Amino acid sequence: MKKEKKMYCNCCGREILMENEIVKEGIFSVEYQFGYFSEKDGQVHGFDLCEECYDKMTAGFKIPCTVSEAREYL
Ligand SMILES: [Zn+2]
Repeated sequence: MKKEKKMYCNCCGREILMENEIVKEGIFSVEYQFGYFSEKDGQVHGFDLCEECYDKMTAGFKIPCTVSEAREYL
């Protein structure tokens, strides 16, 4: 039996909807490597957010995130 990889929203803990290892909903997935001037130099931090938690997070920004039209659709 094939083991399906599961993904969870790091914020609310909800399981991300997946089918055959393809994400079937809007998620915000990030993996960021901190640089030399950071106290986390050399660490790579990653997390996934469901679209709802992403909207809640960005809604708390003092300056809204930039939104532009994608040149290529994924
Ligand atoms: Zn969430």
